[in-house]
Amino acid sequence: MFTTRLCLLLSSVVLVTACSVSQSDERAIGSANAAQVDSELPIVHDSVVDLFVTELGRSMASKTSRADLDWRFEVVNSPDVNAFALPGGFVGVNSGLILTAQSESELAGVLSHEVAHVTQRHMARMLAQQKQAQVISLAALAVAILAARSNSQISQAAIAGSQASFIQSSLNYTRDHEREADRVGFQVLERAGFDVQAMAAFFERMQRSTRYYETNAPAYLRTHPVTYERIADMQNRAQNLPYRQVADSLDFQLMRAKIKATQDSPQEALAFFEESLGERKYVSEAATRYGLVSALLRVKSYARAGKELQTLRTAVPGNAAVDALTARYYRATGDTAAALQTYRDGLKNHPGYRALVYDYAELLLATRQAGEALKLVESRLQYSASDYRLYELQAKAYAALDKRLPQHRALAEAYYRVGNVKGAIEQLLLAQKSGDGDFYQQSSVDARLRELRTLEKETQRETKK
Ligand SMILES: [Zn+2]
Repeated sequence: MFTTRLCLLLSSVVLVTACSVSQSDERAIGSANAAQVDSELPIVHDSVVDLFVTELGRSMASKTSRADLDWRFEVVNSPDVNAFALPGGFVGVNSGLILTAQSESELAGVLSHEVAHVTQRHMARMLAQQKQAQVISLAALAVAILAARSNSQISQAAIAGSQASFIQSSLNYTRDHEREADRVGFQVLERAGFDVQAMAAFFERMQRSTRYYETNAPAYLRTHPVTYERIADMQNRAQNLPYRQVADSLDFQLMRAKIKATQDSPQEALAFFEESLGERKYVSEAATRYGLVSALLRVKSYARAGKELQTLRTAVPGNAAVDALTARYYRATGDTAAALQTYRDGLKNHPGYRALVYDYAELLLATRQAGEALKLVESRLQYSASDYRLYELQAKAYAALDKRLPQHRALAEAYYRVGNVKGAIEQLLLAQKSGDGDFYQQSSVDARLRELRTLEKETQRETKK
């Protein structure tokens, strides 16, 4: 029987009632988790990396029956090879897994498998089975455990207890769930136009690696038990389809180089890319040079960075990620005018490339051009009204312009978008007290406050049941 009880958040702690987890509950869990994920998991905030994985993940999610969920894809800074999904549409993938994947199709294969765990509601159903207590903060615990797993600094003792052990086992999917995620994920991968053989190839490589690392197998294998039977099933499915060779995009290679260049120490990263270029050990020369420039910027070797950048721009003209790197180079060398011009030119060619939008807005703010920053951000909000980063930038711009009502109003929207309703309400109260804003703006704040208070009340009533 499916009851529709709200499982919502209080002070960013997720409370799950002992009921079937309905689809709207799942959404609420997802948005509450988002806030906790931001504070506890080491999320990679590089705009180029973030953008690539988000777009790839969304292209998978859009091919499912649950394209309407608030899907969110993030890269977690951890060398551990792992990926995970939470109810509601949050998918995390570790930087270690991205560097292990040998092709874009392999990464797409992992994402489609995680997306399938969400659409088939595997974890949501496991949470719903838990009936021992009326209200259990299980989903919050799941994030805490994922955080501990991706960061060896966090004590395992912090997550001890019977609920923790239940969640530990819920995070390890059953073989039935794995089979279903493989089957559904495979269809998604095919619809998205990737090489369907890549899925089996990736899982096989994962499994082979366990032979060498008996005690230290990739975390991915603990949470997604891989068997020979599963690999054989994936291969059979792929054999029934015509072979499709899919070349990796340059952006995939650039994104991997960016991770490699930022994950290791600056000197290690520099040595790696110098050696790869010197010995021509690379898949993509452009991506390797892109990694080299990123590493050179980290060690502040600007003259060399400038020279390599010129070679790179000649080899791949008009690439948005290279434009973003070029602008960073100019910023690092103090040539603000050239950096601003690079962003303007880059956005002319790639108006939807969000990494350029964020970086350009930040630079406009840093150079006291808040009015321009505001114009840029508000023009983008027309297309992506759910992007919390745009609201954060909007709030910063209003703060710089000393417009306090719209500043708090924008911050409220940013908080709301990451599931922090309480924080959003506080911001709206500050907006009311700000003493500026016209009648229209004030009424809009009042109306939004009423909406969010209703939402908060429903939450409190439901969690008391
Ligand atoms: Zn799995």
